[in-house]
Amino acid sequence: MIKEGIFKRILLAVRDWQKAARASLKNFFWAAVNVIFPAMCVICGAVGECVCVSCAARVPNGPLFCCPVCMDPAPEFGFCSLDACRRAAEAFPLKGVVALGSNDVPEIRRLVYALKYEGAREAADFFGARMAPMISHLPEDFFTADSSMLLTPVIVVPVPLHRRRLVERDFNQAELIAIALFDALVLARSARLPPVAPEILRRIRQTERQAHLTGEARRKNLSGAFTVSERSASVVNGARIILVDDVATTGTTLRECACVLRAAGALNVAAIVVGRG
Ligand SMILES: [Zn+2]
Ligand SMILES: [Zn+2]
Repeated sequence: MIKEGIFKRILLAVRDWQKAARASLKNFFWAAVNVIFPAMCVICGAVGECVCVSCAARVPNGPLFCCPVCMDPAPEFGFCSLDACRRAAEAFPLKGVVALGSNDVPEIRRLVYALKYEGAREAADFFGARMAPMISHLPEDFFTADSSMLLTPVIVVPVPLHRRRLVERDFNQAELIAIALFDALVLARSARLPPVAPEILRRIRQTERQAHLTGEARRKNLSGAFTVSERSASVVNGARIILVDDVATTGTTLRECACVLRAAGALNVAAIVVGRG
């Protein structure tokens, strides 16, 4: 028995040492990489940080509230004052959309492009850190619609990519942003720590790119494209969901995601995005 105990302790000590050695090797490796290839600003190319101070200052901090129905700016979280939007509000699956700023801001466009098409994952970290404070702009009743539901879970769900596009791109930019947002919340030791759950929503149909489609065509294109994975049904039921995406244009994607989440029993769905455009 004693021998076994000692053996186990030695084994654990060796494992700890291996772990520490691996970590310092990794640190050394990245330090060397940084000396040979110093980080450059994704936007202006200045050497130093992945988003330099002056470029970062030009990226809006939000919150830009958007009406989930028409995506026009709204005075606060929720719907705009248009009659049609007010009428639609009651049955609308998405309760509000918050963006960092307009997608017309060149710095936002550049960072989103670099993230999606140039693999600049640092842009996701930058966005996530900027978007984390947006959680505090969701109204209190988003979290506590009635006092008995104080403990209902809040889950961060990135808008999914279809499997085939995921293979092409190698990562889902919305998921990277959602994870960075979560990390920023942990750092800020926020009282509300919603876990990121990318496995909840699945994109089951490869859809046409939305850019050239308008209004109703977008809805048709996306109808039936998303589903709540069977394994996650019990997690979604009774939860409050914060959808995360890079850019929301007409809001159709967010709306379709919210629709399937509400059908699966989600109590409330809101969205936090980088750009409205
Ligand atoms: Zn710069
Ligand atoms: Zn509206």
